[in-house]
Amino acid sequence: MPKIVTTVAELRTALAALKPARIGMVPTMGALHDGHVSLVTEARRHADHVVVSIFVNPTQFAPNEDFDAYPRTLDADVEKLAGAAAIIFAPNAREMYPTGFSTTITVGGPSAGLETDFRPHFFAGVATVVAKLLIAGMPDIAVFGEKDYQQMLVVKRLAADLALPTRIIGAPTLREPDGLARSSRNAYLGGAERGIAGRMNAILRDTIASAKAGDLRAAEKQAIDALKEAGFDTVDYVAIRDAETLAVIDALDRPARILAAAKIGKTRLIDNMAV
Ligand code: AMP
Repeated sequence: MPKIVTTVAELRTALAALKPARIGMVPTMGALHDGHVSLVTEARRHADHVVVSIFVNPTQFAPNEDFDAYPRTLDADVEKLAGAAAIIFAPNAREMYPTGFSTTITVGGPSAGLETDFRPHFFAGVATVVAKLLIAGMPDIAVFGEKDYQQMLVVKRLAADLALPTRIIGAPTLREPDGLARSSRNAYLGGAERGIAGRMNAILRDTIASAKAGDLRAAEKQAIDALKEAGFDTVDYVAIRDAETLAVIDALDRPARILAAAKIGKTRLIDNMAV
C-alpha cells in the first residue's frame, strides 16, 4: 500500500528517503478512476517512484460551484493506487492554505478565454495549488491529463515561466465504452443524463469532420445546436483553437484542438480532441 503523508514536511522527508531515484508526481482531487490510474502508469514510465496528491482544492471552486458535493473517497483511492504509487500526499486545507495565506499565482497566455470566461477564478486556484505541490515535491516529472487540456497548457506555461525543474508530461484522455471522458463528476449523472453525456464526444468528432470540410465558426455553431438537441441544457463553448496557444484560428493550417464545455442539469462536463 502507498505511504500516506499529510504535511509538506512529511512529504519532503518521504521523498528524500527515495533519492536519488527519479520521482514522478500526479496531482489529483481524488475520487480516483481509471483515467487517474492511467496517469500514474504514464508517470511510472518516466520515474522510479510516483507520488499522487489528493486534495480537493477550495480556491479553484467558486461559491456557487460543487466544492461541498465533490466526491471524497480516500479509502477507495488508496486501494486503487496499491502497487502503482509509492506515496499519497493528502493534505488538508489548513496545510495548503495556512492562516494568513496571501499568495496567488496568475498565469496569462493559455488561461485566456474558454474556461476563464465561465470560471474566472479557476486557473489562479489551479496554478497556485499546482505550484505549491510541485515546489513541495520537486518531482522530476509530473503528469497532467489532456482531459483538462487548457489546464495542462497553463501548467506547462507555469512550470516554464517559474523555471521549475519538473518536466510536465501530458497524457491522453481515458474514455468509457461510449466515448464519454472518465471524470469524477460523472458520478453526478442520473440515468438519462448519463446517456446524454455520452453524446458529447460523438458530436465533437462529427464537428471535426465538418470543420475539415468547411468554415470553423459554422462547425462550432452546428456543434452547439447538436449538443442542445442531444439534451444538454446549456453549452458554455465549443471552440476550435490553435492546439499550442489556444489562439482563435480561421483555418486548419496548423495543429488544432476542439474544446467544449456544457451542462446537463447541474453537472458541467468538458471534453476536447485533436482536430
Ligand atoms: P482531477 O482529479 O479531475 O482534478 O484530475 C486530476 C488529473 O487527472 C488531471 O491531470 C486530469 O486532467 C486527469 N484526468 C481526469 N480525467 C481523466 C481521464 N478521463 N483520462 C486521463 N486523465 C484524466
